[in-house]
Amino acid sequence: MSFNTLDTADLNGKTVLVRADLNVPAKDGKVTDLTRVDRVKPTIDTLKAKGAKIVVMCHFGRPKGRDTENSVKFLVPVLAERWGVTVTFADDCVGDAAKAAVTAAKPGDVVLLENLRFHKEEEGNDQNFARNLAALADVYVNDAFSVSHRAHASVEAVARLLPTYAGLSMESELRSLEAALEKPKRPVAGIVGGAKVSTKLDLLGNLIGKLDVLVLGGGMANTFLMAKGWKPGKSLVEAEMLDTARKIMERAEDTGCRIILPVDMVAASAFSAQADTKTVELADMPQDYMALDLGPQSVELVKDVLEDCETLLWNGPMGAFEMAPFAKATMGVAEYAADRVSRNDLIAIAGGGDTVAALAAAGVEDKLTYVSTAGGAFLEWLEGKTLPGVAALLEAGEKTPNKLAGAA
Ligand code: AMP
Repeated sequence: MSFNTLDTADLNGKTVLVRADLNVPAKDGKVTDLTRVDRVKPTIDTLKAKGAKIVVMCHFGRPKGRDTENSVKFLVPVLAERWGVTVTFADDCVGDAAKAAVTAAKPGDVVLLENLRFHKEEEGNDQNFARNLAALADVYVNDAFSVSHRAHASVEAVARLLPTYAGLSMESELRSLEAALEKPKRPVAGIVGGAKVSTKLDLLGNLIGKLDVLVLGGGMANTFLMAKGWKPGKSLVEAEMLDTARKIMERAEDTGCRIILPVDMVAASAFSAQADTKTVELADMPQDYMALDLGPQSVELVKDVLEDCETLLWNGPMGAFEMAPFAKATMGVAEYAADRVSRNDLIAIAGGGDTVAALAAAGVEDKLTYVSTAGGAFLEWLEGKTLPGVAALLEAGEKTPNKLAGAA
C-alpha cells in the first residue's frame, strides 16, 4: 500500500484541510468518550509543528439540514483542551463564514468547521461542494479511517482536488490492516465470533481465502456445529443457514483454511446472568438449555491452535460476554493473545462491532497490537471491499512522489 504521509510533507505556511471523525458520544452537550478526539491529536501536533494552518472538518449525528442540536460548536473547548491549540469556529463548513475564519487563523491554529452534514451535498459526494471545501486549503489530509467506507464529499471527492495525505491515525490503521490481512506473517489465524452467521457471510467468504486457520466461536459456531449434526437444544441457531455453513466449510477445505469449532460449551437454562449453568461436552448438551459460551476445553484447543500462528485477526466475542458467567472464553483467549503480544510473539489485530467492548471487558483493549474502533469501515475491509476514502488516498499516492519510503 502506497500513500502520501505527513512525515516528509513540507507544510510550512500552508493551510491543511483535515477530515477527522469527531462523531463522539455526547450527553447534554458533554463528550462522554474522548477516544475519537484523542486519536486525531498526533496529526494536529504534526501539522502544528510543521507550521501549517489547520482546518478541521467533521460530521456529527444524522441531521436533516441545519439544526442547533447537531452543531459541532460544543467541541471547540474540548478540542482546544485535548489538542492544546487555539480553536476558532466557522458556523458553516463552506462559503464566506468558513473563508473568513480560515483567513483570520494563524499557523498552528485550528479552525473547526460546522457539521458537514448540514449540507446534503456532503453525503451526495457532490463535486461543487467538494470544490468549495477544497477552496479553503492547499492540502487535504484524511485522518478518519472510520468514515472512509463512505463515498462522501469530504472523504472522496475532495481527495481528488488537492494534494492528499494520510493522517497519522489513518496511517496506523492502514498499516495494521496490511500487517493482518494483506501481507501477514504466517501462519495467520482468524477468530470470528458474535451472534450470527448471516451478518458475517461476506467476512467469512473473504477470510477463508486469506487465513490458514479460522476459529469459530459465539452463537455463529452453533449453526456450524448443527450443520455437522450437533443438537443445539435452545441455543441460538440459524436453521436457514445450515447449507451456507456447509458450503463455507467445503470452501475452506478447498482453500486450505483449517476451521476450528468448539468441543464443549457453557450451557445455561436461560439467557440471563442468573441462569443455572452446566459445562458440557457437545454430545451432552442438555436440550432444554442454550449454549452461551465456549467451554474450557475449547479455550485450550483455541490456544493450542494459535500457538503455532504468528498473526491473529479477531472479530466477534466467543460468547455472550456481556454477562459475566459467559465471558470466560473471550477473556481466556484475549489474555492469551495479550500475553503473546507482550512477548513480541504474536501480531494481534481486532475490531468491528462488539469486539472492542468485549476486549475492553477482558481488560486487553490496550494490550493487543492494534484494536480498531472503526466499526463498519474495519468490517468492510475484512470483507475485502474497496473503501472509497482509502482508494482515493492510494490513487493520490500513485500520482505524487511523496510516498512513504519503503511502503509496498
Ligand atoms: P456480533 O455483533 O455479531 O459480533 O455479535 C455480538 C453479540 O453476540 C454479543 O452481544 C454477544 O452477546 C452475542 N453472542 C455471542 N455468543 C453468543 C451465544 N452463544 N448465544 C447468543 N448470543 C451470543
